[in-house]
Amino acid sequence: MLNIPQAEPWSKYATGDPRAKCNRARVPLENDAAYLCPRCSEQNFVAVDPSGGRRQRFVEDCPVCCNPIQFAVMIDRDGDVVVESAELAT
Ligand SMILES: [Zn+2]
Repeated sequence: MLNIPQAEPWSKYATGDPRAKCNRARVPLENDAAYLCPRCSEQNFVAVDPSGGRRQRFVEDCPVCCNPIQFAVMIDRDGDVVVESAELAT
C-alpha cells in the first residue's frame, strides 16, 4: 500500500519529460491512478476498475479544465497500473 500525498511533486512519479503531451504514471492498483492533464497540466486521479481487463481505453473529462482526455490503462503482472493520458484526437 503506497500512499501518495497530494503535496508530492508530480515529477517524482512521472517518467520522461513532464512537459510531454503524453504522460505516464505507474501506481499500485489499490490507489486511484494519478495522471497529469495534457491540457491544463493539473494533477488528478482516475479510478481504475480491474474487472475491465488488463488493457483499457476510455475517455473522461478533466475535472479542472473540462477537456476530454483519452486514457490508456494497462495492469501489469504485479498488479500495478500504468496510466497514459493524452489529448483526445479530434
Ligand atoms: Zn485539464
